[in-house]
Amino acid sequence: MSVRRTLDLLEQYELKAKKKYGQNFLVDEKIIQKITDTVEAGENVIEVGPGLGALTGRLLRKAGKLTAYEIDGDLVEILKQQFPDEKLQLVNEDFLKAELHDGKSVLVSNLPYYITGDILLKCFWEKDKLCRMTVMMQKEVADKFFAEGYPYGMLNVLADLYSEYRIICKADRHCFIPAPNVDSIVMEFVFNDKVLDEGFCSFLEACFRQRRKLLSGNLKKAGYQINRDLGKIRVDELSPQELYRLYEEVR
Ligand code: SAM
Repeated sequence: MSVRRTLDLLEQYELKAKKKYGQNFLVDEKIIQKITDTVEAGENVIEVGPGLGALTGRLLRKAGKLTAYEIDGDLVEILKQQFPDEKLQLVNEDFLKAELHDGKSVLVSNLPYYITGDILLKCFWEKDKLCRMTVMMQKEVADKFFAEGYPYGMLNVLADLYSEYRIICKADRHCFIPAPNVDSIVMEFVFNDKVLDEGFCSFLEACFRQRRKLLSGNLKKAGYQINRDLGKIRVDELSPQELYRLYEEVR
């Protein structure tokens, strides 16, 4: 969506971008194109946070069906008027509480940055309903997926074990209205077919709950029985594969 159109819409509906919802509207046509190019014609798409519709219009042209979750009721009203398309299901709901429908969809989002980690975690937990996701996130968060060594977090473990990921493009802060305080990166994650079982999710939560403490203590506290001496290891000294092997030992 152009700068002019974004400003016009905000003025016409007497709205301001709401900081509490992480509203930074994308106004760079090339980046919009690169993001929407990652969707194949006819695919079912989920969009998180359509905002004023910067991505929504182009997604609608390609998607078989588009389900868009937007927490801000003011924006949902604008979107309804802009896109009276039967292919679009607009859901005025917090995506973190949403129940995703069965079948494989592609998720696309210029993420609200205040909950980037939570949304990405939800997508991994529910990866059986998603085949891919293309997401814009803060550069600092994206960088962690490519950092050599540690420390790392639960997301790195999940991304390494359950997806292939790559950078689609970079977006500096001037690609948005209002400009955020950080630069951004668009990443694509292609989920693999490995089953992510609930037991492993709970195990990871126990490992990372107090990540500075000894791993053996964290696991014992969560009720796991460890039959060998883990010494003074902390969670981020183990690779994702080593963590999975440890899970197989203690489950
Ligand atoms: N997609 C639009 C764009 O690219 O211009 C807007 C992106 S803006 C960074 C993030 C959007 O997510 C906002 O529209 C915001 O209202 C919405 N949002 C924030 N928290 C949300 C949540 N928990 N569930 C659904 N949408 C949310």
